Amino acid sequence: MVRLCFRAVRTYKINSEKAKAVQHISRIKRFSHLNYTKMGSSRHYAIEYEDFHPNINESSTDVNLDTGELKEGFKQTLRTGTEKLLKNLEKEEDYWMKYDDYSIYTGTAGIAFMFYQYGKCFNKPDYIDRAMKLLKRCIDKFKSKREITFLTGTVGPLALNAVVLYSQGHHEEAHKMISGIKSLSSVVLNENSSIPDELLYGRAGYLYALLFLNANISPPPIQDDLIKQVIALMIKSGNIYSASRKYNTPLMYVWHDSEYLGGAHGLAGILYILLQAQQYLTKSQLEKDIKPALKFLQHLQYPSGNFPSSIGSTSDRLVHWCHGAPGMTMLFCLAHKVYQDENYLKTAIQCGDVVWSRGLLRKGNGICHGVAGNAYTFLCLFQVTKDLKYLHRASKFAQWCLSPHLERIPDRPYSLFEGLSGTIYFLIDMQHPLSAKFPAYTI
Ligand SMILES: [Zn+2]
Repeated sequence: MVRLCFRAVRTYKINSEKAKAVQHISRIKRFSHLNYTKMGSSRHYAIEYEDFHPNINESSTDVNLDTGELKEGFKQTLRTGTEKLLKNLEKEEDYWMKYDDYSIYTGTAGIAFMFYQYGKCFNKPDYIDRAMKLLKRCIDKFKSKREITFLTGTVGPLALNAVVLYSQGHHEEAHKMISGIKSLSSVVLNENSSIPDELLYGRAGYLYALLFLNANISPPPIQDDLIKQVIALMIKSGNIYSASRKYNTPLMYVWHDSEYLGGAHGLAGILYILLQAQQYLTKSQLEKDIKPALKFLQHLQYPSGNFPSSIGSTSDRLVHWCHGAPGMTMLFCLAHKVYQDENYLKTAIQCGDVVWSRGLLRKGNGICHGVAGNAYTFLCLFQVTKDLKYLHRASKFAQWCLSPHLERIPDRPYSLFEGLSGTIYFLIDMQHPLSAKFPAYTI
């Protein structure tokens, strides 16, 4: 299986599709006149924006220091920028409708997710209708009906469409989608299958979908028992694998021969989804499995604040949601809330500092391994601490997303996790920072 999250690292080759994307993206960036730099490392542009401090000059920040909210002028910039990027994405519909990919991660279902978010946040029913139509098409065209995760499987468009349909009063149709998801439980709960436990292709991705449905549909359509069975199997699987490797943690997992640690394929992503299912966890699972696994993970943090991408790696290079500090931030902020332990918050704050100090990713402005995804680090820390420093940092990353700069063009330049839809999704969230949620990760 292709390791999606490392795709963007490989040498960029212009083919006809990408050339078109390059042309398009350079076009959409021309509207802004913000300054930028080409300095920094091979992976990041250095940040030239001033960091937040108590004596910061009012003109150096987009945060209104009296109200603690974004300044009206910046809110307007975000609104105009979001609409402009959205129009550019819509102009390229013929291009992205040809994607032979119907997933949330890099396919048209992810674009539908962004349309739904936009329609919901700005009261634009047309976009909600578009999302429903796109999702129906994705469900019809999805080739493998046995892919079980929200991000890469048919479960994603099914779960999202159930939520959208339900919100529009189409309850019967929504329940058909939910039945389709439930029918996959026999695949997920088969202990003898080779299904992994990580988020993109494994049980954590199925569990996310179940929690997403229960959080967005009332009364919750998924029975406690199914959720508890999936959790129990994920814990058992982690116990067995960790014991086989004699690790000093009750939970460890493997995916494609690597013991990943980050949000996308690794331990952090699994623990984060499990902790969001707190109401379904037993005391023993919380105290004897997840808590020591969090401690184990904490001990792997580099002095820089970043994390290795997998066990055995000593490279402190990747600072992405998929691999590295950004995906860890959400986990440790939640761990702080669940266990009421300040030590977890300290870990999360160190993650926030390395994301800022390392700079702005040259890989682009996407969600998975881009500037928009990294900005959710600050939004998460802002929500937990209410410290204006994090709102300031997030606003600077948003400014960058709206500014002209060179970047690598991903394989799916309009998608939610690699491309423009992800940037727009973040810019929408930036307009209500206290309720922003990393898509397909935070319930
Ligand atoms: Zn990635």
